[in-house]
Amino acid sequence: MKNIPVVMILFGGSGDLAHRKLYPALFNLYQKGLIRSNFAVIGTARRPWSHEYFRQQVSDAVHETHRGVNEDDIQDFVSHFYYQSHDVTDVDHYIALKKVANDLDEEYKAQGNRIFYMAMAPRFFGTIATHINDQSLTGSGFNRLVIEKPFGHDLQSAAELNRQIRESFDEDSVYRIDHYLGKEMVQNIMPLRMTNPIIKNIWNGDYIQNVQVTLAESLGVGTRGGYYDGSGALRDMVQNHIFQIITLLAMPEPTDLTSDAVHKAKQELLDSLIIPTAADVKKNFARGQYLAGEDHPGYLEEDQVDPDSHTETFVSGKVEFKQGPLASVPIYFRTGKNLKEKNSRIDIVLKHMNNLYGNAHSNNISIVIDPVSEIYFTINGKKIMTDGLRRENLDYRFSEQEMAKVPDGYERLLHDVFVADRTNFTHWAELKQYWKFVDAVEDAWDKQNKDGYAPEQYQPGKFGPASSDKIFDSETEHWIYN
Ligand code: NAD
Repeated sequence: MKNIPVVMILFGGSGDLAHRKLYPALFNLYQKGLIRSNFAVIGTARRPWSHEYFRQQVSDAVHETHRGVNEDDIQDFVSHFYYQSHDVTDVDHYIALKKVANDLDEEYKAQGNRIFYMAMAPRFFGTIATHINDQSLTGSGFNRLVIEKPFGHDLQSAAELNRQIRESFDEDSVYRIDHYLGKEMVQNIMPLRMTNPIIKNIWNGDYIQNVQVTLAESLGVGTRGGYYDGSGALRDMVQNHIFQIITLLAMPEPTDLTSDAVHKAKQELLDSLIIPTAADVKKNFARGQYLAGEDHPGYLEEDQVDPDSHTETFVSGKVEFKQGPLASVPIYFRTGKNLKEKNSRIDIVLKHMNNLYGNAHSNNISIVIDPVSEIYFTINGKKIMTDGLRRENLDYRFSEQEMAKVPDGYERLLHDVFVADRTNFTHWAELKQYWKFVDAVEDAWDKQNKDGYAPEQYQPGKFGPASSDKIFDSETEHWIYN
């Protein structure tokens, strides 16, 4: 790999994301030679840490995720890390930060290249972007901004954030990160769909009855109640991860695999996204809040959650497009907290081909994203010796050895930022469409709340409230994974 000269400025250097994901990922990229001699990382946060203390934190983060690594390598890696105590709301601090960045640029011959990473609470994103601009923190080489989710709270706030960011960065330099796009099985969607003649030729409404996307979590909001209560499952999971997966499933085939071609295909699809009406939301959506379980309180009793909150900890619904191979095929999704198990999966339910076998189950193609990486076909076969059908799975599951080789999503995406590959990042025009959809559902729910409706309470350990089983267009449809 090429050694890329760069000074990286990390806002949120003492945070959980930096510790668990970013430092180990950067170490892997260092070991692979993508960053080697000409890089420096400035970690910033409010605490008054020394460089040495910060380096120890980074070293601890690497040790926690790597076994049997050469200690000299770790020491050399962490020697590139510098700490700057920095309150992102204090303008003067940006002046000091700029000086450190310029000095390190010279020391490491980083050629004026800068990567800014916002790994902080989203309420600070706009402030940081504004001060990067008014204090001219950008360098004379390339300047890239990596920004975590959520990008805005609704279309209006996302547009305002985008405006603030664009004062310093052009759209091509903004990397809106969605770590789902770095996951192995999510990256497998396009090759699976597009290279196999059997799958490619049935990828349309003639053969596909519906698509079901499930991103289920087995834990509650924990200590994040304050943030979550202002967000909810729709904004937290659907606006980004679920829509990214759906887009990959439903987009037309790109003309080639360049970032431009892939995003053009995505945009073509998203321009035809059907924005649901209040009546659609009533019919095809369900929302819920978890009740107390053996080892956790109910959502309304959680710390920092409004006891009268209408925020949903579960949502299921329907997405439909007018264009693309899956035009008019219902794409159902569900996501939530304190569900039966942690599971991220896609189930493609195929149509029944004839009535010869009246009680045949559907044939399905399933892609399991987490906790294992697996693709399987559920097919009907004849029962041995008797009439009737039995279901069989044709299964390909990644072995433990294969999984060990799979890079973490953050490593993959950071790599892409270094080499300026925007294929797996969200463009503004796409994000706008996702927000339009989410805003329409939120508006419909606000009206429902005014009419006295509230999210349905659900028992933990299931896949959401009973109303989620009634969101389907046809009575013969149901969640096929339960
Ligand atoms: P965190 O609360 O652990 O870290 C926040 C960081 O911001 C800390 O370093 C803190 O010191 C710093 N900070 C707070 N106020 C500050 C101020 N005024 N000035 C300077 N620094 C200040 O948060 P996190 O879990 O690391 O999440 C960061 C971002 O990453 C969020 O946008 C989150 O949505 C996203 N994210 C996190 C994870 C994860 O696994 N933690 C996963 C996906 C996305």
